[in-house]
Amino acid sequence: VTPIPFVPSLDDVHYGHVEHVSARIRRVIAENPSKYSYRGTGTYVVGQGTVAVIDPGPDLASHRDALAAALVGEKVVAIVVTHCHADHSPLAAWLAAETGAPTVAVGPHPAIELPEDGLLDDEWSDLDDADLAGADDAAVDRTDEPRETIDTAFTPDIRVADGEPVAEAPGWTLTAVHTPGHTSNHLCVAFPEERALFSGDHVMGWSTTVVSPPDGDMRAYVESLRKVQGRHDAVLWPTHGNPITEPGPFLRAYLAHRLERESQVLDSIRHGRVRVRPVVDALYVDVPRHLHRAAGRSVLAHLVKLVDDGHVEVEGGGPATLGATYRAV
Ligand SMILES: [Zn+2]
Repeated sequence: VTPIPFVPSLDDVHYGHVEHVSARIRRVIAENPSKYSYRGTGTYVVGQGTVAVIDPGPDLASHRDALAAALVGEKVVAIVVTHCHADHSPLAAWLAAETGAPTVAVGPHPAIELPEDGLLDDEWSDLDDADLAGADDAAVDRTDEPRETIDTAFTPDIRVADGEPVAEAPGWTLTAVHTPGHTSNHLCVAFPEERALFSGDHVMGWSTTVVSPPDGDMRAYVESLRKVQGRHDAVLWPTHGNPITEPGPFLRAYLAHRLERESQVLDSIRHGRVRVRPVVDALYVDVPRHLHRAAGRSVLAHLVKLVDDGHVEVEGGGPATLGATYRAV
């Protein structure tokens, strides 16, 4: 598959320090490194004097203290949340109480029942312990959590729809760019004064994005990538990883990677790998095994789309699940 020109890692990350990353943007990185959050959550502060905070981050005392220090003397007028995963939204409640500023997002995480879809199936049980013990990347957590944790407590004070103003002050304006896919309520935030887009987890500087059904939706995700492509921003600021300073080629590769994966999944089904696990084993040989459960969610996301598109059927009917058997149409 097409390699994505990921931006070199933040090896010099200074947790808890506020750094000026552009004329009007500061960033504080939380010390919550993991296989989903890379070196940690980057909380952005936009403006000076009157500011907006984007993705206040995880409920971590060190990060709360670092944000409090970074915001001394600032008037916070908006707390923007790209989506309510536990590494993005939990400190919003504290910051709102502290500053009186409203929280702004597309909406709370929808209440969706997660199906018992074969996660505990025997096909996956060998990935539980042995492979975690073998994981040697210090930045990888050892919980083998197949999904990002959802912050169900978060409900925004202000709901914004695509294209609506998020907040403004002299020197900066922020506008909503609804980008469903990673989650149905995922929000990117346009910052026209710097031709910048805060891209949350939709486009990240270090990795592809987890698209995990049922709330994660590959069709929506691909459409949302095209939407960002069509904007021609000069720079993308993801919540995890370094900025993407050449969005054009990056997004082309990011999108090609997904579409190629989709055709590889379809090919695998056609060649008799008719369950998710053998597809993962065939397509993710280069990916460490402790990430194979997450890869299974991603293959499932492609299968949901392929079933919707009529290229694949579920044996015996019913929805696409991790435990189902598939057949090419
Ligand atoms: Zn997320």
